[in-house]
Amino acid sequence: MNIILLGPPGGGKGTQAKILVEERSMLQLSTGDMLRAAKTSGTEMGNKVAAVMDAGELVTDEIVIGLIAEQLDKNADGGFIFDGFPRTLAQADALEVLLHSKGKHLHHVIEMQVDDTALVTRIISRSTCESCGEGYNDIAKPIPANGNCSKCGNRDFQRRADDNETSFRTRLMAYYKETSPLIGYYYAKGLLSSVDGLAEIKKVKGSILSVLS
Ligand code: AMP
Repeated sequence: MNIILLGPPGGGKGTQAKILVEERSMLQLSTGDMLRAAKTSGTEMGNKVAAVMDAGELVTDEIVIGLIAEQLDKNADGGFIFDGFPRTLAQADALEVLLHSKGKHLHHVIEMQVDDTALVTRIISRSTCESCGEGYNDIAKPIPANGNCSKCGNRDFQRRADDNETSFRTRLMAYYKETSPLIGYYYAKGLLSSVDGLAEIKKVKGSILSVLS
């Protein structure tokens, strides 16, 4: 099954995608993760997008469509989870064409509905284990009191460069201007389901699984 997780920054797309990877053998395709990896390894493309990402603006359609196109031949028994892609109508159209060219299609688009006021708190509270990428949140899922990652035991955690209030507001504006029209787009295609993204992580997971069943 190929699905899109759609929602604003901090809406919980990445958290739910990781759960689906573990439980449904799906493959997470996060353009944000791919871009951050390019930025960290200092590739030409990574250097080009670094400032745009840190400011919270959108990278060009051409770059992210290219990143996704490179992944679609990968083996994904449970299907693909598109996380943070598409973010514009042009990306959505390109995804349809790309999937079609591989004899694949989208099964569901899941919109994670989250109250804007909750987002900024979520964003500035989150961190990730530097070693295994496990996500934490100072409020909902704090780093264990012993300071060790619960998954791999590592003691170093990082916060994203764009997880600050200024970048967050730009990201939220980009979401409303460029990405939220996709809600109507996928509704019209009969693919949209919406879940309450503010519920407890397990409850959100349950809502997503019932869409997929
Ligand atoms: P994310 O991890 O999904 O929050 O993405 C982090 C940043 O990467 C975004 O704020 C954008 O700068 C960039 N980015 C990720 N995915 C896309 C996309 N599909 N289109 C344009 N920019 C993207």
